[in-house]
Amino acid sequence: MPKKKTGQRKKHEKQKLHQKKIQSSKEKQDLVERPCNFNMDCDKCGRKQKNRAFCYFCQALQRLPVCAQCGKAKCMMKSGDCVVKHPGSFTTGLGMVGAICDFCEAWVCHGRVCLTSHACSCPLRDADCIECQRGVWDHGGRIFVCPYCSNFLCEDDQFEHQASCQTLQTETYKCVSCNKLGQHSCLRCKLCWCDDHIKRKGFKYDEKQAFPCPKCSHTTSATKDLSMSEWVSLAMRPALSLKQK
Ligand SMILES: [Zn+2]
Ligand SMILES: [Zn+2]
Ligand SMILES: [Zn+2]
Ligand SMILES: [Zn+2]
Ligand SMILES: [Zn+2]
Ligand SMILES: [Zn+2]
Ligand SMILES: [Zn+2]
Ligand SMILES: [Zn+2]
Repeated sequence: MPKKKTGQRKKHEKQKLHQKKIQSSKEKQDLVERPCNFNMDCDKCGRKQKNRAFCYFCQALQRLPVCAQCGKAKCMMKSGDCVVKHPGSFTTGLGMVGAICDFCEAWVCHGRVCLTSHACSCPLRDADCIECQRGVWDHGGRIFVCPYCSNFLCEDDQFEHQASCQTLQTETYKCVSCNKLGQHSCLRCKLCWCDDHIKRKGFKYDEKQAFPCPKCSHTTSATKDLSMSEWVSLAMRPALSLKQK
């Protein structure tokens, strides 16, 4: 008979889950750099969209697929892990691909590593926009992550959402449990916590890391660091990067 889980063990598992969540929110920040989220112009209709096997607008199969995992459009067979061997020759197009990812709708190349690792680690898994609830399949554009709450956003909603997401609900920064000044703020819940109430009983914290929000586990920021100028510079960032293009 399996042993009953002790309190200690349960705690440990909870903690692990917690850290996983924090880790994944960090990964999300680099989402725009992932090949499955690259920009693509359709071969046929020319419309701009996210990298995908078939055009979102006209369904045309793209001539030069870019691997959703490693980002290559041409296989030189340098790593030698190609599932289909092509000694001495480069391949592109359909000769280079092995599968279409169900989550991001982009081609995965015929490299063994890409084929076996992409689907399980696809960063666009469950990438539904927090505003309009549309997933990768429901809109053509790229997927973004809100720098404040770390939720997914579609191209249409990203700026409007970020503008409204950057402020805390309580401008007074009071701890939700005791009304003292809250030193820790969760940008996802828009709540503040004091030094005592940020901590949950029986939970072991890493000294070097910011406390996770007791409500949603999102990493909190120090309220004092969130000066008005920082809010403004954070809010300006996406607008600036758009201009550079
Ligand atoms: Zn098209
Ligand atoms: Zn690849
Ligand atoms: Zn190859
Ligand atoms: Zn994918
Ligand atoms: Zn949306
Ligand atoms: Zn947000
Ligand atoms: Zn408190
Ligand atoms: Zn929270």
